[in-house]
Amino acid sequence: MSLTNMPKLGFGLMRLPEKDGAIDMETVQKMVDAYMENGFNYFDTAYVYHGGNSERAVKEALVARYPREDFYLATKLPAWAMNGPEDRDRIFQEQMERCGVEYFDFYLLHSLEDGNNYDTYEKYDCFQWAMEKKERGQIRHFGFSYHGSPELLEQVLDKHPEVEFVQIQLNYADWNNQVVQSGKLHEILHKRNVPMIIMEPVKGGTLANLQPELDAMLKEVRPNASTASWALRFVGSLDGVMTILSGMSTQEQMADNLNTFRNFEPLTEQEKQVIQAVVQKMQDMPMIQCTSCRYCCDGCPMSIRIPDIFRALNTARLYKKDNRPKMFYNNLIGAGSGKASDCIGCGQCESVCPQHLPIIELLKEAADTLE
Ligand code: SF4
Ligand code: SF4
Repeated sequence: MSLTNMPKLGFGLMRLPEKDGAIDMETVQKMVDAYMENGFNYFDTAYVYHGGNSERAVKEALVARYPREDFYLATKLPAWAMNGPEDRDRIFQEQMERCGVEYFDFYLLHSLEDGNNYDTYEKYDCFQWAMEKKERGQIRHFGFSYHGSPELLEQVLDKHPEVEFVQIQLNYADWNNQVVQSGKLHEILHKRNVPMIIMEPVKGGTLANLQPELDAMLKEVRPNASTASWALRFVGSLDGVMTILSGMSTQEQMADNLNTFRNFEPLTEQEKQVIQAVVQKMQDMPMIQCTSCRYCCDGCPMSIRIPDIFRALNTARLYKKDNRPKMFYNNLIGAGSGKASDCIGCGQCESVCPQHLPIIELLKEAADTLE
């Protein structure tokens, strides 16, 4: 298999539909079927997605229903769940059991970034360990997902030429974002001929739900195209991209994305300019750049639903006289979330946030604005 000839749309399994507090398996199966019927077959899960239930959903919706050779399955080793080198095999074994497979087509070290995670992977010799798994046939292709600086990326790639691919966050809003630096990461990987898997092409749904004035700019050029399709076509028009992961949560999103990729049209020069203009306007808007990845939620001792509070705060920042953010906030607290003012400043959330957001400070603003 050539990594550059992969199907372009990957099914990200981080934001699966839920019903009554559990993954809605009936809907997931329908989404898997629609995806496979349209000739796509790349599934991306992780040990930590949905508290481990994403991998279990893979077994039920995919592995038990399709021949193993008909799909590619990717999962990830989390640095933050390891306390010693023995945890590498313990987690890997658990992942194989959860997914019901004997091997993973793609295996990633999860969320390499400057500091903690990367140091842990080196400390426990995870690169060498993954190579041994590959020799035994339990891993077919090895890489890592990345949320760090361009400098660290160069350093890791210099040290580890065995890495076959890298998964990065890339979308048009983050291309020149000073924290994420998608454009710079893309340049480094492309120059080195390292195939890229793209995550967050729609920035956690943000680029599918633009402010009305931004949406209107896109609609003027392509009245019938969905807002999300612009974000996916931006990423799909770049060189060196192997697969574009979309964390789809509904059958409608699946249908829309399949439509975009079935007869993929690269962006025209005029369309690229429209996107530039949209980005320019976005930069003038005071939005919190949260992607709703929810990495911060599990470890919060006060059970604060941070990304949901940020969604309310974003709306409150944009529409100062609108009462809906407060209503949304109160419903959230009624449904069991800790209040923004409950934050004790322990810093757990900031230590895992891939967007490096100043969460504690933002929660103070949320408390002042919404409580
Ligand atoms: S700093 Fe606040 S929001 Fe973050 S994990 Fe601690 S209590 Fe939760
Ligand atoms: S605050 Fe950071 S870690 Fe939490 S959901 Fe948003 S982007 Fe993810």
